[in-house]
Amino acid sequence: MKVVNTIADLRAQVKEWKAEGLTVGLCPTMGYLHEGHASLMDASVAACDRTVASVFVNPIQFGPTEDLATYPRDFDHDCKLLEEHGVDLVFHPEDSEMYADDFCTFVDINTLSDTLCGASRPIHFRGVCTVITKLFNAVNPDKAFFGKKDAQQLAIIRRMTRDLNFDVEIVGCPIVREADGLAKSSRNTYLSPEERKAALILSRTIRLGQDIAGGCERSSAKLLAAMRANLATEPLADVEYVEVVDGLSMQPVEQYKDGDLVAMAVRIGTTRLIDNFTVGDPAIDVAL
Ligand code: AMP
Repeated sequence: MKVVNTIADLRAQVKEWKAEGLTVGLCPTMGYLHEGHASLMDASVAACDRTVASVFVNPIQFGPTEDLATYPRDFDHDCKLLEEHGVDLVFHPEDSEMYADDFCTFVDINTLSDTLCGASRPIHFRGVCTVITKLFNAVNPDKAFFGKKDAQQLAIIRRMTRDLNFDVEIVGCPIVREADGLAKSSRNTYLSPEERKAALILSRTIRLGQDIAGGCERSSAKLLAAMRANLATEPLADVEYVEVVDGLSMQPVEQYKDGDLVAMAVRIGTTRLIDNFTVGDPAIDVAL
């Protein structure tokens, strides 16, 4: 496995592969990798001849009061995991390689970024769209792999790819969870033991929502009331949002249908966690 720090070196390697007629998969990450990230690598290695993973904590997707400075980093561990999962090339740039001092061009997306996480993180998806555009331009991948854990991000990248005619297939990968149901996240490391237990309220509430949505109930208000009541049973949980939105437009729906997204953001102590399910997907395997 090769590690490169510059866009020039990244391009040179991908160019060689393309000249040999090989297909290339891209898995963008911010590092501190876990099995959720590894599932993207596995999907790419299975579907493409060569896999590029990026490890870059993208500063422009963090708001001024967010956790950019404390975001966990362990590049040696990341490389070990990436190598074990068959990644061919790791792109690990410095901030200055991605953003010159006078950088001033951004890719922004309307509507889909107004709801859910976008409502409280106004510059977040602009930062995501910009860095993914830069990575698409640098790698020109055949396929790019993203987790359904960040379902709004996935919907936004699909739309951006269509709207801007990127010649890449976007592949969504299922949420990978801990044995007790908590969705794997680099930010889980912030949780104290007490908070780690309290955090199970997210996956339990997802499971409750799946049970209700799997029956004949179609009213978003009723589904959300039951989910909010369940979240309220956990004193450490501070709910930012629980919403039902159309799976493509990310806009709230009164009556939900298969393919719509039920998503939540909840603070446990100071740690902001997200989880979601798509209506019609099989129920997750966790105790209520
Ligand atoms: P991040 O490093 O948090 O920016 O995540 C990089 C990619 O890994 C994104 O496409 C995430 O959606 C995906 N990812 C993170 N956690 C999980 C998980 N638990 N299951 C599946 N994909 C995940």
